[in-house]
Amino acid sequence: MDLHASLMKELGIDREKIRRRMAFVDFSEKDVRLLSEMKGFVQRHADRLVSAFYNHLLSFEETRALLKDPSTIDRLKKSQEKYLLEIFEGNFNEAYFEGRLRIGAVHHRIGLAPQWHIGTYCLYENLLSPLILEEYGSDRDRGLARVLALRKIFRLDMALALDFYFHRITSQLEEKLREMDDFTHVVSHDLKEPLRGIEAFSGFLMDDYAPLLEEEGQRYVRFLKSSAARMKNLINDLLALASLSRKSPALQEVDLNQTLTHVRNDLAFSIKQKNADIRLPPSLPTVLAEPTQIGEVFKNLLSNAIKFNTSRVPKVEIAVREEGAYHSFSIKDNGIGIDPRYADRIFGLFERLHRQEEFEGTGAGLAICKKVIERYGGKIWVESELEKGSTFFFTLPKRHVKERESFPME
Ligand code: ADP
Repeated sequence: MDLHASLMKELGIDREKIRRRMAFVDFSEKDVRLLSEMKGFVQRHADRLVSAFYNHLLSFEETRALLKDPSTIDRLKKSQEKYLLEIFEGNFNEAYFEGRLRIGAVHHRIGLAPQWHIGTYCLYENLLSPLILEEYGSDRDRGLARVLALRKIFRLDMALALDFYFHRITSQLEEKLREMDDFTHVVSHDLKEPLRGIEAFSGFLMDDYAPLLEEEGQRYVRFLKSSAARMKNLINDLLALASLSRKSPALQEVDLNQTLTHVRNDLAFSIKQKNADIRLPPSLPTVLAEPTQIGEVFKNLLSNAIKFNTSRVPKVEIAVREEGAYHSFSIKDNGIGIDPRYADRIFGLFERLHRQEEFEGTGAGLAICKKVIERYGGKIWVESELEKGSTFFFTLPKRHVKERESFPME
C-alpha cells in the first residue's frame, strides 16, 4: 500500500489543491528558497527549540498526561526535530504534506483538541521569529522576509492538520448517523409486521362480524383500521427518511425538465381536482442529483402548494435562478400561508400545523426534502405569512460539494 498517499486521498487533497492553497497564502518558490537558506541556522537551534517545546508541553496538565511513557517522549522529540528540519529542507512533496495530515489524525486518535497543535505552531513561531530577526539583525528586510515565509508554511501545515482532524470527526459523526438510520430501518421493519396483523384482522372483523356489532362497535373498528393505515404511512415515511442516508446518493446528471414532467403526471389527479394552475420556467437546468430523490423534493413541495391551498384557482409558480456556485429554486403558491414563527419547525419530522381532518398528511414530506437537499450540499427554507401564500426556496450546488475546492472565498 502506498502509505504516503493514503491520508491525502482520504481527504481528497492532491498536488493541485496544495498548490492552490500555497498560492492563496502567497507561499512562493522564493519562500522555499529563503527557508532552505536557513538550514544551517535551524540545525544549530533545533535541540534548543525541541527542548523548549517539550518543557512547554510539560507545563500543561492536558499535554503532560500524554508524556508519561519515556518512549513516547523520545519519539515525540525526534519527530519534532525532524519536522523542523524538514521545513528548511525546502522539499515540500507529498510525503511532507501527508505528515501534516497525520498530525490531525494522531490528535484525533488520542483525543487532543486542535487548540493544542495550534498552540504548538504558535510556540515555534514565537520562538523562531526573534531568533531569525536576531540572525539577520543588520538587515531587517531579509529577516522579516524569512519570518513571513515561516509563518506562511506554518499556517498551511496547521490548516492541513485541522482539516484532517475535523474530517475524522465528521466521518465519525456520519458513521453514528448511519447507525441510527440503520436502527430506525430495522425497528420500522419490525413494527410493520404486527401492524399488518392489526390492519388485516380489523378488516376481517368489519367484513365478517359487522352485523353482530352495534353502530358504536363498528365505528371503533373503522377507527382501528384507519389508525393502523395511518401508522403504516408514518412507518413508511420513517423508512424512506432512514434509507436516504444508509447509502451515499448515486449522483448523476438529471434534466429537471423531465423530472417536472413526471412530477406533474404523478400529481395530475389533484391538479385537475383542485383546478390548479402550475407555471414552470421555459427551461429548467440539469443538476447533479439522484433522480428519484430530487423528483420527491419537487413532488412534495408541489403537492403541498396545491394541498394547503383553499383559493378558487390554486396557483403555483416554479422559478429558478443562478446564484454563484448554486442554482436557486423557488416554489410560490397562493395558499393558506404559514405563520413565520413555525417556518423552521415544519421541516422537522412529523411536524404539522394542521389536524388530519383539515389537511391529510404525515408531516414527513418536508423533513425528507430537507434531508435530500442538505445531503446534496444545498439549503431549504420558506418565506411566508398566514393567508398570504408561501414561497419555498432551495439551493443546489452546480457541482457536487465533495468535488469543489475547499477554498476560503467560495
Ligand atoms: P404533510 O404535508 O404530510 O403535512 P410536510 O412535511 O410536507 O407534511 O409539511 C409539514 C407542514 O408544513 C404541513 O402539515 C403544513 O402545516 C405546512 N406546510 C407545508 N407546505 C405548506 C404550504 N405550501 N402552505 C402552507 N403550509 C404548508
